[in-house]
Amino acid sequence: MAVTSHLLPTYARVDLAFERGEGVWLMTASGDRYLDFTSGVAVNALGHAHAHMVKAITEQAQKLWHVSNLYRIPEGERLADRLCAATFADTVFFQNSGAEAIECAIKMARKYQSASGKPERYRIVTFEGAFHGRTLAALAATGNKKYLDGFGPPMPGFDQVPFNDLDAVKKAVGPETSAILIEPVMGEGGVRVVPHNFLRALRKLCDDNGLLLIFDEIQTGVGRTGDLFAYQHTGVTPDIMTIAKALGGGFPVGACLATAEASKGMTAGTHGSTFGGNQLAMAAGNAVMDVVLADGFLDKVKHNSLLLKQKLAELKDRHASVIAEVRGEGLLIGLRLVPPASELVDELRAEKMITVGAGDNVVRLLPPLIIDEDEIAEAVARIDRACTRLGQTHARAAKEKVAP
Ligand SMILES: *Cc1c(COP(=O)(O)O)cnc(C)c1O
Repeated sequence: MAVTSHLLPTYARVDLAFERGEGVWLMTASGDRYLDFTSGVAVNALGHAHAHMVKAITEQAQKLWHVSNLYRIPEGERLADRLCAATFADTVFFQNSGAEAIECAIKMARKYQSASGKPERYRIVTFEGAFHGRTLAALAATGNKKYLDGFGPPMPGFDQVPFNDLDAVKKAVGPETSAILIEPVMGEGGVRVVPHNFLRALRKLCDDNGLLLIFDEIQTGVGRTGDLFAYQHTGVTPDIMTIAKALGGGFPVGACLATAEASKGMTAGTHGSTFGGNQLAMAAGNAVMDVVLADGFLDKVKHNSLLLKQKLAELKDRHASVIAEVRGEGLLIGLRLVPPASELVDELRAEKMITVGAGDNVVRLLPPLIIDEDEIAEAVARIDRACTRLGQTHARAAKEKVAP
């Protein structure tokens, strides 16, 4: 990769830059058009340059950007009202990223126990394959050794157990446990849908032991799974929920939602953010909600996601040597591959379609939620061609291996 710059090289960037976007399309300066099946990693829910978003942000930019949380911010009060009306939550704290929302959730769970007379309860049970962000606390919750390596002792207070193993969770819960933290669909971990009966069992375990259940819906939230939030069709309600990515449609906004009970320890002075919830960010969040909450929007996401999944299932049958499994919910879709997932990401980029890898040898398909049927057909044609080439390459390699 011949990219030289003064940017800290923590990303192995692809040598590709976009200049403009329009709906599900991204354009380079030289006029190449790419089909965006990454959405800035589940961020651009309304695609690029969505007219309503542009108008909302432009109008707000001409009025007021930021004043600080020392004063009332009516736009944020409105967004919090709308999020609470649409969910289990009674209260919202706004930030600028997912990891910050996780920090808030961790602090809130600890403070809840402390305010309930159990200050010894500070530990949180988390799951292998999870991803909760890159701050030191979020990393400790994530527990990925590769991400933690070299950064000193991980922040204490997290007990990581295998995914979907209730006995392991029960064993991990002790007198110091405050909460259980889980993504209802593990995004970075490979688009693994957590079985609903496992979530129900976690809910019961929390209720029986005075623990808080925290759902990380940073990737799944705001329509990605076809429901406004993934928990809404699991039959399980958390006490705290973190959201971010799609909430600002590309403007950095994160939020920690909670019940009044779970948040009872978070009184004046216990938490803060300089930028969190400023006017410009809240204008972006409200504009996203205007569109996503509009009649029929999520029904269309569900309809289109079923259509896409059906076509992907056909591709899997025809390219069994390439695609091992199609999984996910709504427009958070994972293709588990037979060859290395990165090979399909590369082949798709050659088809001018961008996707993103995930754990468990998965390619994630994350189109903007506004994608239509023609664009889905176009995407499927590109995936089909990429799989054909990949299948041929591997068949040839296998033959050469057998040949003397
Ligand atoms: C992206 C993500 C995060 C981290 O969000 P940042 O905005 O990058 O800090 C946390 N949890 C989940 C589930 C995510 O997908």
